[in-house]
Amino acid sequence: MVIGADSANSRVAKSIKARNYAFAIACQERIKLPEEKMAYYENLDKMYVGHDVSPDFYGWVFPKCDHVAVGTDTVCSKPDIKIYLNGLRKRPKINEGKVIKVEAHPISEHPRLVRVQGQVALVGDTAGYVTKCSDEGIYFATKSGWMCGEAMVRASKEGLRMINEGLRREYLKKWDEMYFSTFKVLDILQRVFYGSDAAKEALVELCGKCNICHLIRLAEGNRWEDLKLLFSTIGVWFGVILWEEKLRVWARNY
Ligand SMILES: Cc1cc2nc3c(=O)[nH]c(=O)nc-3n(C[C@H](O)[C@H](O)[C@H](O)COP(=O)(O)OP(=O)(O)OC[C@H]3O[C@@H](n4cnc5c(N)ncnc54)[C@H](O)[C@@H]3O)c2cc1C
Repeated sequence: MVIGADSANSRVAKSIKARNYAFAIACQERIKLPEEKMAYYENLDKMYVGHDVSPDFYGWVFPKCDHVAVGTDTVCSKPDIKIYLNGLRKRPKINEGKVIKVEAHPISEHPRLVRVQGQVALVGDTAGYVTKCSDEGIYFATKSGWMCGEAMVRASKEGLRMINEGLRREYLKKWDEMYFSTFKVLDILQRVFYGSDAAKEALVELCGKCNICHLIRLAEGNRWEDLKLLFSTIGVWFGVILWEEKLRVWARNY
């Protein structure tokens, strides 16, 4: 039995002819800041929205040991990723310091259609388990690896028999039952909120209302919470449309 956990450009996925997925490109610089500037980020993560940092996503700054990670990602304008990274570096407090590492990596946009074949199963980035909107992949990589391992033990009767269709039932079906709606809701949120700067501002407002605990509950596949978030999204979305319409009228008049 094989678990394919070899990232987005997976050889295991190729070997079972799992079809490719659409992907975003993420680019991140590790920057060593002067000590007094680093103190500012000691207990702080920052998220930046705006066309200068990403046309369809957000930029981030967060501390990692003795340096900060400064990154952004985009689907619609991949060749310009460096321009957005430079835009991000123009934001306050990160425009000095020494770049010690640059990382670029594809990020899946949706789960692959083929994730199990015979005795082979895909997990994490290889399966395409990164949520839209929040780009959360670490939790889902860990969770899917765990679930897949357990499913293999169960389906093979603790290694006493060869598995076949059992893996699909024990792993894929359970995974989709738990997380399909979470991935779908976050997909809708991304479509709604990353289209314009006004919509991104509305997302920031929504995040203030439904705090981080809410998002963690989302990750646990709580359908009721998903539904509540979907309704607040629709409410804020109408707000954005009305607000943009008001702006258009104002621009026409003046
Ligand atoms: C810039 C950036 C920022 C991110 N920020 C966040 C974040 O804030 N929060 C979050 O939840 N997620 C974030 N993600 C996504 C997250 O990093 C991934 O979803 C997660 O690491 C996926 O884990 P994985 O184990 O599936 O794959 P990986 O972490 O990519 O691990 C795959 C491993 O397989 C190895 N490998 C590959 N090919 C082979 C081979 N042929 N033979 C042997 N070994 C091989 C690789 O060396 C690697 O060690 C970010 C991603 C990027 C690129």
